Amino acid sequence: MKLTEAELAECRDLALKIRRHCLNMVHKGQSGHIGSMLSMADILPVLYTKILNVSPKEPKMPERDRFILSKGHGGAAVLATLAERGFFPLDWLGTYYQDAGKLSGHISHHIPGVEFSTGSLGHGLPVACGMALAAKRDKALHRVFCMVSDGDCDAGSTWEAIMLAGQHHWDNLVMLVDYNQLQALGGSKDIINLNPLAPKLEQFGWAALDADGHDQQAVYKALIRLPLCAGKPSAIIFHTIKGKGVSFMENNYKWHYGGLTDTMLNRALKEVEEAAL
Ligand SMILES: [Mg+2]
Repeated sequence: MKLTEAELAECRDLALKIRRHCLNMVHKGQSGHIGSMLSMADILPVLYTKILNVSPKEPKMPERDRFILSKGHGGAAVLATLAERGFFPLDWLGTYYQDAGKLSGHISHHIPGVEFSTGSLGHGLPVACGMALAAKRDKALHRVFCMVSDGDCDAGSTWEAIMLAGQHHWDNLVMLVDYNQLQALGGSKDIINLNPLAPKLEQFGWAALDADGHDQQAVYKALIRLPLCAGKPSAIIFHTIKGKGVSFMENNYKWHYGGLTDTMLNRALKEVEEAAL
């Protein structure tokens, strides 16, 4: 199964819009975790247009799939996605990181389409476990997705959740790893080396798969295989590039957080537009 040319074009267009929104939001707010946002900008379009059962008309419908962004600092990318999908007005994006604005720097459940407020790392997967358990007890068919970062995978609470989910066979739970191998202060392998990640997860009772997180056909191909194995929680390790799409940000941990000058914004926008042609 592949995305059709029209579906792929839609996903590429949404990725461009997400990147454009994020750059403008971080420029206007003079703050934000832009490297983290750009890292997942090719995954979110596939997830939100082809995989998740969610509706902007009824964001709280009981049968919806749940999506938790554990790396809540990169939340502007999800907010841009939700706005483009009609969960709230696009002009809210202009209030990101502004005093009395609608959108805070870290993602908040007060926004339609956001399940859980996150920011401190290591919180998303434990909550996703609770949601997966609740769904199992209710015999509900929805799935629970949680996107985590390298930094999340350093947190002990994430590994407690991984052990618990594997032990209880929660195959309605999906962990998506935005595995850019950089975090706030440097390379992940120099801070806490997670490699090899897939075999570690398999040892904890998960089914795990590696995929290119910037090839949207590969992202789709991985996501439609869910659950990867009946009776096991699934992990897809998306290999990504922090700051993807902007040459002076790519693979540079110094772009974990910060504002953009007018010159930087214009250069970055030009690069993402040209890459999308
Ligand atoms: Mg990272």
